[in-house]
Amino acid sequence: CGIVGYVGTEPAGPIVYGGLENLDYRGYDSSGVALVDRGLTVAKRAGEVSELRFPKEPDAVCGIGHTRWSTHGPPTDANAHPHTSKNGTVAVVHNGIVENYESLKTELVEAGYEFSSETDTEVIPHLLERELEDGHDLLSALERVVDLLEGSYAIAAVQAGTDRIVATRHESPLVIGHGDDGSFLASDVTAFLEHTRDVTYLEDGDIVSLEAGDVSVYHDGAAVDREVETVEWDA
Ligand code: GLU
Repeated sequence: CGIVGYVGTEPAGPIVYGGLENLDYRGYDSSGVALVDRGLTVAKRAGEVSELRFPKEPDAVCGIGHTRWSTHGPPTDANAHPHTSKNGTVAVVHNGIVENYESLKTELVEAGYEFSSETDTEVIPHLLERELEDGHDLLSALERVVDLLEGSYAIAAVQAGTDRIVATRHESPLVIGHGDDGSFLASDVTAFLEHTRDVTYLEDGDIVSLEAGDVSVYHDGAAVDREVETVEWDA
């Protein structure tokens, strides 16, 4: 349903929380966040954003959040996003549907990955962790995992110890915000309009890396320039 992310110089917690509140109008059944410092702090539950026991983590300057509208698995705390990998170093939020998740899940379960939700989404953090263990960094891990996925999706992922968000989209909206104090990511500009109106709309198949002062967009393995537009209208 809704994705929000921030990486910059300000505490990420309040910004991500504010983004989730801004997405509230869309309708959802669960919400959650992952804040990054040396580890990952994840809070998620079925119900309203206001019911989330929101982590403080004042040192975290990178985080992602999600409002879920269930498609696979009922609205439970375990099925809420973010979903994490087995060793807890990767957290993922996802909008849309991974159509081929059953075959991917079967393969991962046979390889010893344990699942803690009934979602289609949970294959993604496990697939990312498998690529990280093979020596890829998070960006190339995402590039490789996207090749395995069928369906429509917007995905954002973070890794413990790294102030960076990687994200991609296919038939599901995703927009970047370029702020003075950091970079924003959302499924809908209204999530972060109070922080910046300078935005870049991603195209299908784009893969993006967001860091405090750097946004890089890649398509088919090559860096691309995407237009920065200014949003004129009031949300
Ligand atoms: N298919 C995912 C799930 O059911 C994501 C749904 C959404 O877009 O919120 O958890």
